[in-house]
Amino acid sequence: MKQIYRACKKCKLITTEKNCPIHGEEKTSAEWFGFIIITEPRLSAIANRAEILEPGSYAIKVRQ
Ligand SMILES: [Zn+2]
Repeated sequence: MKQIYRACKKCKLITTEKNCPIHGEEKTSAEWFGFIIITEPRLSAIANRAEILEPGSYAIKVRQ
């Protein structure tokens, strides 16, 4: 079975889960575009601007 990658509507974290592993209650969306990989959130200007605290892959845009 093909795995579908989804993105959290709140933090944009990319996951295969239907709910965000960080936010729990927050539903993820299968409709998202582009992604960035953050390995050192505290050293990344992009992560800082997007308020990303956890390392991982994040979508650039998530359709609500
Ligand atoms: Zn989230």
